[in-house]
Amino acid sequence: GATLGVMGGGQLGRMFVHAAQAMGYRTAVLDADPTSPAGLVSHAHIQTPYLDEAGLAALAREAAAITTEFENVPAAALDQLARTRPVAPSGAAVAVCQDRAREKAHFVGCGVDCAPHAIIATAEQLAAVSDDLLPGILKTARLGYDGKGQVRVKTRAELEAAWAELQQVECVLEKMLPLAYEVSVIVARGRDGQVVHFPLQQNLHRDGILAVTTVPAPNVTEAVSQQAYDAAHQIAASLNYVGVLCIEFFVLADGRIVANEMAPRPHNSGHHTIDACDVSQFELQVRAMTGLPLVAPVLHSPCLMLNLLGDLWFPAGATAQVEPDWAAVLALSGTHLHLYGKTEARKGRKMGHLTVTAATPEAARDTALKAAAILGIAPF
Ligand code: ATP
Ligand code: MG
Ligand code: MG
Repeated sequence: GATLGVMGGGQLGRMFVHAAQAMGYRTAVLDADPTSPAGLVSHAHIQTPYLDEAGLAALAREAAAITTEFENVPAAALDQLARTRPVAPSGAAVAVCQDRAREKAHFVGCGVDCAPHAIIATAEQLAAVSDDLLPGILKTARLGYDGKGQVRVKTRAELEAAWAELQQVECVLEKMLPLAYEVSVIVARGRDGQVVHFPLQQNLHRDGILAVTTVPAPNVTEAVSQQAYDAAHQIAASLNYVGVLCIEFFVLADGRIVANEMAPRPHNSGHHTIDACDVSQFELQVRAMTGLPLVAPVLHSPCLMLNLLGDLWFPAGATAQVEPDWAAVLALSGTHLHLYGKTEARKGRKMGHLTVTAATPEAARDTALKAAAILGIAPF
């Protein structure tokens, strides 16, 4: 069969490789790290930096079509590959998602609300910031993830200190909003413009990192979900996007939705789709990039997804890394364990996830709470 290429070798790439292989494709991963989770399971692993000429040439030679699993892969590398191979999503679409300022401008251009914000790239812009944006969160425009590159600020003095702490790179100051809860929508868009979406996910973050995803979203009204689906379809279409795209939204107390950010790839809040949907986000990425038909995914089981962070490998009193008690978790029916092949656990590092499926949302939650208690994850 044909070979599919992926830029980036993290866990998203690994699960993409699994989906591609299940459909009979060979895979090629470009990632400089010899132990990258996707590189470990791929037919070919090109171990060069993203912009290395020889690496890009090797990927283009190997792969009939190419995608990315890493949102910060240089857009120029995708553009270069696109001269000889279909690349989805495009460098242009990824470039918008890589920059919070451009991303927010895109949301506004689509008629989708985002948090009140100001761009701070110079001392003059810092001085000109309105007091209305405080308390706020100062976020680097580029390269942040899992709450890294963000500082919460209450006063102008704190804002000035935060900008210095972030090395005075270009930032976006966002007003701190009173969130009722957070949700995300994953869409897949084909070359022909067809767009399908997964059911809305409700996401709980802890310390800026996704902790728990629940589907169906327990707190969400039909009106809120429809607003989110409409916004996501509009955003994907106006980027002329091809592939899987995730949009994160805040839901405010009055039921309004506000777009937070988007990711030009499968997303952590969609990992449950492997076990709880009839087609996963990774399979839809394969279908979109190869021009195969997209179908509207169906959630066949209510579910919860728990992220397994490296913290769980260091229970209280442990002097070295300890493997969690997977057997105890897997003894609960409806648990699906995914580990990413990372040997070194670190606090905050995404080591794997656990999806819990059941016949009812209540039963899924009940089992997920039992699994969490075994693993040392705080109740939710
Ligand atoms: P990711 O790992 O999802 O890419 P990130 O580092 O890019 O995360 P954001 O999604 O911008 O960070 O913010 C992380 C979390 O911080 C959000 O999910 C939300 O819980 C909180 N947060 C961010 N911006 C705001 C805001 N304007 N008001 C209130 N809470 C916010
Ligand atoms: Mg982000
Ligand atoms: Mg986020």
